[in-house]
Amino acid sequence: KDSGVAGEGPQPRKLQSASVIGAGIMGSGIAAANLKRGLSVKLNDANPEALQLGSTAVLDEVSYDKETRSKSAERAIQFAGRLHTTTNSDELLDTDIIIEAVVENLELKRKIFANLEEKLPETTLLASNTSTLPITKLAENLKHPERFVGIHFFNPVRMMKLVEVIRGEKTSDETAATAVAYAKGLGKFPIVVNDGPGFLVNRLLFPYMNEATQLLQDGVDMKRIDKVARKFGMPMGPIALYDMVGIDTSFYAGRTMYDAFPERTLVSPILPALIKRDMLGKKKGVGFFNYQ
Ligand code: NAD
Repeated sequence: KDSGVAGEGPQPRKLQSASVIGAGIMGSGIAAANLKRGLSVKLNDANPEALQLGSTAVLDEVSYDKETRSKSAERAIQFAGRLHTTTNSDELLDTDIIIEAVVENLELKRKIFANLEEKLPETTLLASNTSTLPITKLAENLKHPERFVGIHFFNPVRMMKLVEVIRGEKTSDETAATAVAYAKGLGKFPIVVNDGPGFLVNRLLFPYMNEATQLLQDGVDMKRIDKVARKFGMPMGPIALYDMVGIDTSFYAGRTMYDAFPERTLVSPILPALIKRDMLGKKKGVGFFNYQ
C-alpha cells in the first residue's frame, strides 16, 4: 500500500524505548540489539533466575567492541544504565514498543497480551516474536489489534539480519510501517510477509528440520547428517540447529506446523524424548550434542 513516494505512505513512528518480555535466547538477543542502537530497554521475565541469566547475556553481548575486538567492563556499565530488568510486567507500560518473546504457547502469549492491554496506552506498539503462531490468532481477543504485529527475529539475533514483519488481518498500515522502520533502525533487513503458520521462513525450514529427524530414525548418524548439510552449503547442520534453537522451542513450533499441515508432517518421538530428559539443547549444555 506504500506508494514509495515520500509523504504518501503511512508514516512510521519513531520508537525510543522498548520492553522485551521473556529473557531467554531470543529476548536477551533482542534486548541487546535495541541497546546497541541507542534505545532504552526494559527486560522482563517471570522467572528471576532466567531474568538474571538473560541480563548477564545482554551485558556480555553489548560489552563487545567490534573495533577493538574485545569486551570491556566500561562498555557494559555504560549500557547497563539504559537497561532496566524486572519480574513485574506492570513496569513495562511506559515504553514505545513491547516485544513478547516467551515460550511458544498460544494461550500463554494471549494471556500476556490481554493482561497488558488492560493497562496499556492505546498507541503502544505490541509485537510478538513468535516463530510459527499466526498473528491474527494471537490478536483475536485484543481490543486494539491494529497496533499488534509480528516482528520475528532470527537466532542468533546479533548475527541474523533478516526480520519477518508479519501483518495480522487487523494490523494497521502505520503499525506495519513503524515495525519495518524500527527493524531497519536496529540494522536489520525486514521483509513484510503474510500471516499463516510458520510465516515464510519457518514454513520452508520446518519440512527440512523434520526430514532430519526422520533420517535419524532411519538410523543415519547425526554427525553425518550435519556434515552433509554443511557440504551442501548450509552454515550449520540441522541437528546442531535444533540444539541452537532449543529442543523445546523446536517441538512447540513443530506442533503448530503439524496442526496446520498434518498430511505433510511426520511426528518424531525424538524431540519429546529429549525434553523429558531436560536435554533442551545448547541453553542447557546438552541436547543432541554435548556442550559441557
Ligand atoms: P527460551 O526458552 O530461551 O526463553 C523463554 C523465556 O520466557 C524463559 O526465560 C521463560 O522464563 C520466559 N517466560 C515464560 N513465561 C513467561 C511469562 N509469563 N512472563 C515472562 N517471561 C516468561 O525461548 P526462546 O528461544 O527465547 O523463544 C522465545 C520465543 O521466540 C518463542 O515464541 C519462539 O518460538 C521464538 N523464536 C525462537 C527462536 C529460536 O531460535 N530459539 C527463533 C525465533 C523466534
